Amino acid sequence: MRANNEDAKAYTEYIGKLRVISDATRTEHDKIINWIDGHKFKDGSTGSSIAFVLPTRACKYARASHGGCSFCTLPTDNPWSPSDELLAALADRCVEIFRRKKEEFPDLAAAKFYTSGSFLDPWELPLDARADILEKFDQLVKEIVIETRCEYVTRKQLGHAKDHINPDKVIVAIGQESTNDEINERANNKGHSLKQFTRAVGLLQEYGFGVKGYILLKPIFVSEQMALFDAINTARDMIDLGVGSISVNPCYIGKGTLMEKLFKERAYTPPWLWSVLDVTRKIKELGGEDLIVISDPVAAGQDRGPRNCGKCDKRFREVLKEFSSTQEYELLKTLECDCRVSYDAIVRMEHLAFGNGVSSVSKH
Ligand code: SF4
Ligand SMILES: [Zn+2]
Repeated sequence: MRANNEDAKAYTEYIGKLRVISDATRTEHDKIINWIDGHKFKDGSTGSSIAFVLPTRACKYARASHGGCSFCTLPTDNPWSPSDELLAALADRCVEIFRRKKEEFPDLAAAKFYTSGSFLDPWELPLDARADILEKFDQLVKEIVIETRCEYVTRKQLGHAKDHINPDKVIVAIGQESTNDEINERANNKGHSLKQFTRAVGLLQEYGFGVKGYILLKPIFVSEQMALFDAINTARDMIDLGVGSISVNPCYIGKGTLMEKLFKERAYTPPWLWSVLDVTRKIKELGGEDLIVISDPVAAGQDRGPRNCGKCDKRFREVLKEFSSTQEYELLKTLECDCRVSYDAIVRMEHLAFGNGVSSVSKH
């Protein structure tokens, strides 16, 4: 069943209002947050990558009156009004950070640029600043990951990027979250349809860019079991489209989101780490050696993140992280804990008592 227009409008306005409240705590800054991760390259080798969070103008979709995705808190950490000078200096500052880290991590050979929005949106990150980053890092690393919404995957933006870097080096990540349009519309407020995602993936492939898909595990209004079905169905669709890597992103509670409001009202909890493990295993089985699967949950084991019983959470976190950088499937078989029995019972009970939640459609 689809939401009627009036319901949909009220829903998105509500999300927008929640985000406006959280803006009160937002501060202007010029920080480039960065960290090092293990990395599996497209060619099968392993090494290290550096992730940069750039202080751009933030996601335009999140800043619109409808408030953006119902689970996302990222853009509230951005400065929103960075000066032109700050944006123009980003490439040089990132290079400087990269060179320093390279001394500590000699196998550093990949860079991920997160903007809490879309790297390919010229309003958020001006074309000159984008070109500067791509050109400089083309010389420094063998792989670059950027993120974008589907609407910026256009011939114009891809043509511009291609003028400044070898596209074969670039993986463009899209937060599609789900290929079930009803879940994306009614639970995630995503504003992406499967049709748009399919078009974007095709265009990226035509221009020679790699594609990575993000899957959101356990959106609001969706039962744990439906979340498992949906994540696996989404991965299947992505693999069919030729997506080369998939990141499983279990929900955590971000401040100022509709998800937080439901969490506080005890109407939502993040997924179990068992669900994260099961989905990760299944996707790796579906995609095999050729598919890189990343599953490194944010806030794992914490109150606002995906959790198990408390005793096994740390081990789950470590193993999933190690799997993400090595792709060693056997690692995922090493996780065991008595809480599996409770997990199985609770997932079944929730399904019997409340059904699937927002959508009962399943191809699983
Ligand atoms: S998930 Fe991405 S598209 Fe959605 S509001 Fe957050 S940054 Fe914007
Ligand atoms: Zn446990």
